[in-house]
Amino acid sequence: MYDLDKKNKNIKYFVMLAIVPLFAIVAMFSYALYHVQKDVDFVHHEIVGLDVITQIENVVFNIQKLRGLTCIKNQNNGSTESVELLKENIYKDLTSLKQKLSYVKYESSLRYELLEYIKSINKSSLEYANFDYLSRVIYDFMIFSYRISYQCKLILDPVLYSYILVAHVVSYLPELIEYNGQIRAIASSEQSELLSEDNKQNIRVQIHKIKERLGFVRYSMSMLNDHVNDKKIKIAYEKMLKAQENILNLASSHFLNGEKIPFEADNINSLTARNIELIIDLYRENSKLLKTLLEKRYEHSNRLMLYIVIAESLSILFILFINIFFYNKNKKFVEKIEKLTITDAMTSLYNRRYFDLIFDNLLKSQKRTAQTLVFIMLDIDCFKQYNDTYGHQAGDEALKAVARCLNSSLKRDGDLAFRLGGEEFGVLCSGLDDSQAFDFANSIRKRVEEENIEHKRSLVSQYVTVSIGLVVVESAFVNSVNDIYRYADQALYKAKENGRNQVSVYHSSQ
Ligand code: GH3
Ligand code: MG
Ligand code: MG
Repeated sequence: MYDLDKKNKNIKYFVMLAIVPLFAIVAMFSYALYHVQKDVDFVHHEIVGLDVITQIENVVFNIQKLRGLTCIKNQNNGSTESVELLKENIYKDLTSLKQKLSYVKYESSLRYELLEYIKSINKSSLEYANFDYLSRVIYDFMIFSYRISYQCKLILDPVLYSYILVAHVVSYLPELIEYNGQIRAIASSEQSELLSEDNKQNIRVQIHKIKERLGFVRYSMSMLNDHVNDKKIKIAYEKMLKAQENILNLASSHFLNGEKIPFEADNINSLTARNIELIIDLYRENSKLLKTLLEKRYEHSNRLMLYIVIAESLSILFILFINIFFYNKNKKFVEKIEKLTITDAMTSLYNRRYFDLIFDNLLKSQKRTAQTLVFIMLDIDCFKQYNDTYGHQAGDEALKAVARCLNSSLKRDGDLAFRLGGEEFGVLCSGLDDSQAFDFANSIRKRVEEENIEHKRSLVSQYVTVSIGLVVVESAFVNSVNDIYRYADQALYKAKENGRNQVSVYHSSQ
């Protein structure tokens, strides 16, 4: 019982010692995990948004082409065919955009708004589409792109090169295409010499806007090249820049300086159409690169999450291992110390300290089970003379021999033997009746005598003998260790008085 209490206490210390670092580790890793998880969600959102935006832009590019073609005044058969083909493509793109949106997991009003808007563009509305209607659709889709880029936080991307690519995909390049498209539409709708002042003014505005956007693109491309070495995007950019500057030069010299146009309307139409294709190429390279970078980051963050979980598990295991290791080591050490404090060094029997300690517990349990208590107190006879005759060293050996006799006499698990002090020993057991207890005590006495340890000057035998005071009582008659000690002392005194080397029983009437 005494040991059990100690054990529980030790386990409590162990739990406390392990819990603090475990809690710290779990808190630290959970914090890291929370942030990486946030990054994973963030990038995932971005990838989904980018997918929808590029799909929208596919539609927009084709509508811009359609608008360009519908503006040509003298349409021949070839262009009618391409108009039909374009309408077909737009319709297909819109259907796949609708499908893409239905796969998007995030619930948002913007998604429903976009779906409703797509539904409103049916085949017949495209059939009779005019410049203004198509321009409005382009404008609406571009606004949707913007809104999606905000909602999916593309515009908040914390990595510089991703941010630049996002700016290109969401605004600069679609806007450049749109402004070129405007010039194309106006220029190819009339003979340029006959352009109205309003149209000329409109073209001037578009040229101005193109220059402005081109400035942004030029600057952001130089920043991008510092961070990302992507040849395809560089080549696409160089090609587009050349074509765009060519158009700007021609358009500026003609429309802004009033010089005579050096080419036919068809030429500016095909020139801008070619330039738009180049911008679209650049756009595609841009969105491809952006998607690759985002997916890499997504993978990286996911891997990081896995590493964090592994590191956390290893740390937890390590802490548990260290704690269990030291707990066991400590337990063994404590047990050893405890054993030392309750053991007599010379005889290895339990000492008086342990007798006092265990006796209280034993008494309590005996009272519960109402069993008899048996206490056998032994004292070596004429031991002073033994020492005087054979020396102190031999006296010690005799004490050890008596201790061995006691130990080998114990029969049951609960029986305990003690060296109570000097040449005094004790045996505690329970559940024996008077005669059983007497026989047991007498067998011990006999066993000591039969050890045949020579004792020439003993008054009672030629060998070392013991006198025994035996106490067999109901536990109810004992209140403390002192009681039983007193009873045993009385009986032992009687055994000495009656001639030693005998068992004397304590009677409560004594
Ligand atoms: P009695 O038969 O009445 O018990 O006589 P006794 O001589 O045994 O009793 P007494 O109390 O007069 O003497 C006890 C002796 O035990 C005295 C002491 O020297 C000896 N003794 C006590 N402890 C030790 C010990 O650790 N080693 C040795 N060698 N002798 C011890
Ligand atoms: Mg004595
Ligand atoms: Mg003695």
